[in-house]
Amino acid sequence: MNRFFTDGVVLKTKVTGESDLIVFLLTEQRGLVRAFAKGARGMKSKLHAASSLFTYASFGLSEKNGVYNVTDADVKESFFELRTDLARLSLGQYFCEAMLKSVTEETDEAAFFRLMLRAVFYLNQGKKDLLLLKSAFELRLAVLLGWAPPIHACAGCGTFLTDKMYFNCETGELFCRDCGERDACPEVSASVVSAMRHIVYAPFEQLFAFTLGKESLETLTRLTQTYLQNCLELRFTVLDYFWTAYR
Ligand SMILES: [Zn+2]
Repeated sequence: MNRFFTDGVVLKTKVTGESDLIVFLLTEQRGLVRAFAKGARGMKSKLHAASSLFTYASFGLSEKNGVYNVTDADVKESFFELRTDLARLSLGQYFCEAMLKSVTEETDEAAFFRLMLRAVFYLNQGKKDLLLLKSAFELRLAVLLGWAPPIHACAGCGTFLTDKMYFNCETGELFCRDCGERDACPEVSASVVSAMRHIVYAPFEQLFAFTLGKESLETLTRLTQTYLQNCLELRFTVLDYFWTAYR
């Protein structure tokens, strides 16, 4: 039997048996881990507090024949505030679902963990615009998955920037004013292009440190949402709840 500790965030829980849970953890060292948390539904269990959605904790895990059990947990942050608002809560659930579809088991992908933890931290803190968090999360996740859109220049002629450009949500290509319209791609302003480049190329520490007007943020996140869903080849229904709550 293997025993180890790893930091992790709870992405999903599933009831099993009378008092047990299965928790889906995004861990720093092992990627996605699906583990049994025996007795976690009992109020007196030491695993109870560590087994709710979004909780960030140091988890003690044991593994035998590919089956994981949570043996211990030390909660570092429960991110309670983000549950108090429906828009924030549904956006957080979307982040969890997107990670569940992106990270595979037994991958050593600390970058996914860092992105999730930082996004949930800002979501809980409530100081950053939700559409900024959403866009940065979506596009950076696509980058981590190997689908960095080639937006350093116009895909047609190599021009760096024109006052309006066009983004192809299928291929991630960017087109300048002269090359773009024939492809019927959505129009993007120069400031939205700059924000996209920031999200793709900035060092992780600066990922969420950019500003953009309300209207441009909405354009940006419509594009990043479509692009990520195209990359993953699926649609997230939780986004319907988010957009309803956000309005
Ligand atoms: Zn061009």
